Amino acid sequence: MTSIDELQRRRDGEAKRIRKALDSSHEERKESLKSGEEVVAFVHEKLCIGCDQCTLVCDDDAIEMYDKEMASPLMKTEINKKARILRDPCTGCRLCVLACPTDAIVMLDR
Ligand code: SF4
Ligand code: SF4
Repeated sequence: MTSIDELQRRRDGEAKRIRKALDSSHEERKESLKSGEEVVAFVHEKLCIGCDQCTLVCDDDAIEMYDKEMASPLMKTEINKKARILRDPCTGCRLCVLACPTDAIVMLDR
């Protein structure tokens, strides 16, 4: 029978393996994204689920959340939050793109 210690060792090993895989895909994605003064982030509204992750990582206060009426009459919630990029303060650092779980943010040429 598997002991608690053995189980814990396996869980720790698995957590390390997953962390390594995520870090590696994160780095690959980062390398493929344009960054800097020549680009600006843009949110595809339809893909945004209002989770607020992008505002947490943006150090430049370049993202604001706004209310959007729900399109479906089946949903009980009337209002959903959406993110919007403020072009002037956006430094093109691309952190929000990496943080967004739905790939709603892209980097565009200015
Ligand atoms: S690219 Fe950087 S500065 Fe621009 S909105 Fe995203 S996190 Fe903020
Ligand atoms: S992280 Fe993505 S899904 Fe979440 S609020 Fe920002 S743009 Fe929307």
